[in-house]
Amino acid sequence: MTKYVYFFGAGRAEGSSVMRNLLGGKGCELAEMTNLGIPVPPGFTITTQAWVHRQRAGRKWPEGLWEQILEHLERLEQVTDARFGDRERPLLVSVRSGARVSMPGMMETILNLGLSDATVEGLATRAGNERFAWDCYRRFITMYSSVVLGVKREVFAEHLDAVKGRLGVTADADLPADELRKLVQIYQEEIAVRTGNPFPQDVREQLRLAVDSVFESWFAKKATEYRRIHGVPEEWGTAVTVMAMVFGNLGEASGTGVGFTRDPRTGEARFYAEFLPNAQGEDVVAGIRTPLPIEALHERMPSVYAELLEIATRLERHYKDMQDIEFTIQEGTLYLLQTRSGKRSARAAVKVAVDLEKEHAIDQHTAILRVKPTEVNEAIRPVFDDREKAAAIAAGRLLGRGLAAAPGAAVGRVVFDTDRAVEWAKDGQQVILVRPETSPEDVAGMYAAQGIVTSRGGRTSHAAVVAVGMGKACVVGAADLSIDEARRQFEVGGRTVREGDVVSVDGGTGEVILDAVTTVAGQLSEEIETLLGWADFYRKGGLGVRANADTPADAERARGFGAEGIGLVRTEHMFFAADRLPVVREMIMASDQAIRRAALERLRPVQREDFVGIFRAMDGLPVTIRLLDPPLHEFLPNWKEYKEMVAEKSRLETLGAEPETQQRLEALIVAVEKLREANPMLGHRGCRLGITHPEIYGMQVRAIMEAACTAAEQGVRVEPEIMIPLTGTVGEMKETFEQTRRVADGVIAEMGVSVPYLVGTMIEVPRAALIAQKIAEHAEFFSFGTNDLTQLTFGYSRDDVAKFLPKYLDMGLLPADPFSILDQEGVGELIALGIDRGRRRRPDLKVGICGEHGGEASSVEFCHKVGMNYVSCSPYLIPGARLAAAQARIKERLAGGGDYR
Ligand code: ADP
Ligand code: MG
Ligand code: MG
Repeated sequence: MTKYVYFFGAGRAEGSSVMRNLLGGKGCELAEMTNLGIPVPPGFTITTQAWVHRQRAGRKWPEGLWEQILEHLERLEQVTDARFGDRERPLLVSVRSGARVSMPGMMETILNLGLSDATVEGLATRAGNERFAWDCYRRFITMYSSVVLGVKREVFAEHLDAVKGRLGVTADADLPADELRKLVQIYQEEIAVRTGNPFPQDVREQLRLAVDSVFESWFAKKATEYRRIHGVPEEWGTAVTVMAMVFGNLGEASGTGVGFTRDPRTGEARFYAEFLPNAQGEDVVAGIRTPLPIEALHERMPSVYAELLEIATRLERHYKDMQDIEFTIQEGTLYLLQTRSGKRSARAAVKVAVDLEKEHAIDQHTAILRVKPTEVNEAIRPVFDDREKAAAIAAGRLLGRGLAAAPGAAVGRVVFDTDRAVEWAKDGQQVILVRPETSPEDVAGMYAAQGIVTSRGGRTSHAAVVAVGMGKACVVGAADLSIDEARRQFEVGGRTVREGDVVSVDGGTGEVILDAVTTVAGQLSEEIETLLGWADFYRKGGLGVRANADTPADAERARGFGAEGIGLVRTEHMFFAADRLPVVREMIMASDQAIRRAALERLRPVQREDFVGIFRAMDGLPVTIRLLDPPLHEFLPNWKEYKEMVAEKSRLETLGAEPETQQRLEALIVAVEKLREANPMLGHRGCRLGITHPEIYGMQVRAIMEAACTAAEQGVRVEPEIMIPLTGTVGEMKETFEQTRRVADGVIAEMGVSVPYLVGTMIEVPRAALIAQKIAEHAEFFSFGTNDLTQLTFGYSRDDVAKFLPKYLDMGLLPADPFSILDQEGVGELIALGIDRGRRRRPDLKVGICGEHGGEASSVEFCHKVGMNYVSCSPYLIPGARLAAAQARIKERLAGGGDYR
């Protein structure tokens, strides 16, 4: 018979940390803590395998499951010296969900199960506290009804609020026993009316249905949404833990709280926790009451505080990572109810990893692998311009302050609900979600928003914890904001902010400011520098990291982030500047060669200046410059402007405007019409342009080499790599290669400076990958242009993909957007094959990638595996790419696949 249930209690547990997949994160760590001798209330965990079997059988429980539960319930009765459903010594339990990865608050948990009209009296007598017993019962009915019976919490909350209003109290804890008893009566009547049945009094029936509902809560809308966002497989399912209740609501010597062993916002090594006296666990997480800082516990119960701190430290040492813990104190006795590795901001992730290494808890490999490449990129995200923020505050734009819950600088339009947040974000708007408090239902809205503000709740409230994990700026407990959800506005200090108004949120300081405040580029912190330093060391002999940069300023920034060269300068970007575009148009529209050459001659000095700037910024490092790639019509008016021009033309005609003005317009219209293409992506672009208009590439090569020679003369070490775009045939390669050499060598001879340079190509047409061996006869390096290569391999136009891609992703027809995450199976195969064939002809062929994928971790790992020399990505992605490259190498070594050379 399959074992579906694992016991923990009385100092011993059948499970442990390694059984995470079977027992879920919560279950396995409760077992682990029990074995460590940490005070944990006893209980048992029903495995995810039980869930899977139930699921496969159309939600029918597997044979023997209920019997095993009853057996373990008996064991639980023995160790707790109480009996389930007993009138004198009633055992109460919680029924908790827990998947193998933490899905905070996404599934259901029921507390105080085992209460009935009979056992509640026993509980009151035994505890000598009527108020407490009825408080538990009303909590239980609320939770059980919402999870199992489908009666919404709000139904009960209304009655609760009514009673509180009548008595003039604000805290639940201030309700006397007889009022709670009456409330329970009312609750039961509601249930009878709404479900047609009385509230179930058979505690075993309660348990069976509760377990089943917790199983089922895996499919709750919020849980499904969370899985989609975080890529958690549908088929994992949840384990269910049933454990003896301990009571934080037994009076002032009791309470409950949560805490992090380090500050999850910054990573600072200090106990970051909150405590709520006379309350049960859900109160803290739900943000119903704002908890006290943990110092309050220190003052009230110093020895409990000391014990808690000691356990927190022990747990961190044991797990070698920052922990997020839940605890409850029952009349001065401490219990741990959960521990897991804590969600943290990107900045904190880096600091915690580096600090743990310094504390000798983990080694450098582990530290490098602990941090996600996206996290180092996130940690250098923009921050508010200090001076501008100060000016905004001085000008009276500070709306309010709350607790700084999750760092980040966010600017956006205020919205008051999740649906609106999602809707507006879809339209490309930046939004700030403003809520009294958040609940798991709001996760999609939080994900869509740039930042989150709540008026209630503490540092460990739902909003705070989820925002930290998502990397969103978040301010909680901004109590001055009086939010009116119905009217979609909030008031603060006599001002009204309506839906759609812009605010700025500083999650690092807790400030909420009216209107936009400018942000400035982030910096590499000391910890990031340290971590990346280690990464660079382990990366040696592996992938280099270059930048895609088009201007000297970009190049400098990239170098600051650790770029080891430039993998892509897109020269066309230099043509778009306002003072250059007219000359470019003149060149394009030239009626004869002479006029075209004259226009090109005017462009040459400005191109040269750009290149000199870039070579200077990259002194000593290689710079890959791509010759003109886009079709020429991109420099002419677009379709909308074209239509306006046509309208303007007929207006001028009727007005009888100057013939010269009319002619100029006419010429532009003709040029646009002439250059229009049915399929520009597959049209007259890349080297096809260079071959039909050799004078354009000629000018560019001249500008590059003049700049290189000039810079070299000034003592700059230059390594230009001239790159031909969109090569598809050997002929194209040979032609452009020879043409380029001719011009380049001419410049070198003219200027009398010897500059080593290479001429290579992008591999972005599938055909080029297939005939790479021949291409490499001429090309001295390859750079995979994976944007076009993806486009041409799939046959998806990148500009039109939004029409079907979302549906494809929804239906699971594609695992991911191939334009963000390299399609290793198809496009990757072409890359691997291209490298292999290219190196057959030229064994030392230098190979890189310059598509968008060069900054994405899984794609970087792939580039490492196929033996590329470097990846190239946008400057802000460089830190992440450095880390990803190191991780790829470390993983390879851990898998035994290679050694550091
Ligand atoms: P979630 O996954 O949403 O955090 P939990 O299962 O952790 O749900 O439970 C919610 C709250 O109830 C937590 O604060 C937890 O500490 C508390 N809780 C769970 N089981 C017990 C118990 N046996 N005794 C006291 N409090 C409990
Ligand atoms: Mg929990
Ligand atoms: Mg391309």
